[in-house]
Amino acid sequence: MDASQLEAACERMRGFVIPEAASRDRLTGSHVYGFLTCEHSVYLDFFGDKERRRSPGPALARLLARGVAFEDEIVAGLELIEPEFEPGDFVSGAEETRALMLEGVPGIYQAVLFEPPFLGIPDLMRRVEGESRFGDYGYEIGDVKSSYKPRADQALQVAFYSVLLEGLQGVLPQEGYLILRDGSEERFSIAELLPALEELLEEMGDLFSGRQGSFPHRSFACRDCKWRDVCAEGTGLDWLPGLTRAEQSLLRSEGFTELEDLARLEPEVAAEKETLSETLLVRARLHAEASVQGCAVPRRRPRLKDRMGQGCPVLIWSDAFDRRYLVFGLLPPGGEAQVFLAMDPGDEAAVFEQWRSCLPEGQSLCHAGAFMSSLHGILLAQGMPGEGPSLERRSLDLMNLARGGFVFPAPVREVSEVLASLQGNEPVGREEERLLALEDRDADTLRRLATEELADLQQLLLRLDEASV
Ligand code: SF4
Repeated sequence: MDASQLEAACERMRGFVIPEAASRDRLTGSHVYGFLTCEHSVYLDFFGDKERRRSPGPALARLLARGVAFEDEIVAGLELIEPEFEPGDFVSGAEETRALMLEGVPGIYQAVLFEPPFLGIPDLMRRVEGESRFGDYGYEIGDVKSSYKPRADQALQVAFYSVLLEGLQGVLPQEGYLILRDGSEERFSIAELLPALEELLEEMGDLFSGRQGSFPHRSFACRDCKWRDVCAEGTGLDWLPGLTRAEQSLLRSEGFTELEDLARLEPEVAAEKETLSETLLVRARLHAEASVQGCAVPRRRPRLKDRMGQGCPVLIWSDAFDRRYLVFGLLPPGGEAQVFLAMDPGDEAAVFEQWRSCLPEGQSLCHAGAFMSSLHGILLAQGMPGEGPSLERRSLDLMNLARGGFVFPAPVREVSEVLASLQGNEPVGREEERLLALEDRDADTLRRLATEELADLQQLLLRLDEASV
């Protein structure tokens, strides 16, 4: 796109309209970011009952607080000026920001970019060379993120702020940047992101206008979502896991709205539905059956039968924020659970070696999925990436096998949830307790939780073994 096309695209986006019926009149960078996780959550932000929102759970609240502390740490090392204004008075904040830009200050912290209905408050704004409405300099936008790798939603948020900045300085910044958890700076082209941002805003506009209905889409994101209580009230197709939005929409268009009808779907009725593939109908029926029964239902026999029965449950738990590997566990066949803790960073190498030396030769390493990325992480941290392939060959992801063999009434992320669902019980996760124990470096709780997880892996291994014959 040339400069005039870029300008026109920015203009079109800034013409976004929020319907009067909405409960808020400002669209922020968080909405752009959140739309990629769940469109319905942004819809509810504008049209839902605010009183029904949940507060973040303790583990998420701690993680958010760590993110804020990290941002403070980064900002403290930079020479930035923060606009002064009364809380909530964004008109004054925007005027103050403009004055600082006119003055040509080298950097601004939490600049206010306000062009109703858009409001953007980026973490960082940096002076760069080049022509703009202010003279022979302009500004570009950056955001501080606590992840180690950049993500598309983070970059799109910076592009959104950049569109607002274009309105203010008369020129779109060429690049934006993210400062990541390891302090590195990831730069990207803003012009290249504009088509994706424009498409997102168009979709959001369609959703807000009511041209297409907004429905929940049950996924892992629902666990920490503030709108979970509202969405969980849905009893029909809306709260059925395992289907994409497009599949749900197709089923709705064929008149399927009640789970009971879908769960009892006869093959001859299914055959009449020419717009729906047989695979989709079978999958939807199984998911509906699992939801109606509140219990996992078999999908197909778990594969890799010959590697099962015998096997060694293993785990490695890390604190992803600090890239620390703290808990290593294994349960050898016929033996007892062994848990090794590296509470001090200086112990990590020795504890990892101790755990590795206890792994029984020739046994499959049975784990819960996330183990492999932790294993690769610690091997990399210890300068032993070459060890990965031999351990990987012994890897047996029990969660993957369980998800392939059964359909669950709700998304399952933990082994304890799989076991509970297989028995028709309400899934009980331990993730919140584990995350808090990792944060607090609570050795006793970590040891207990790791021992329980190894026993659960053992039980799941037996259960999958039974189902495979
Ligand atoms: S609970 Fe799930 S479906 Fe509902 S708004 Fe939140 S993420 Fe979306």
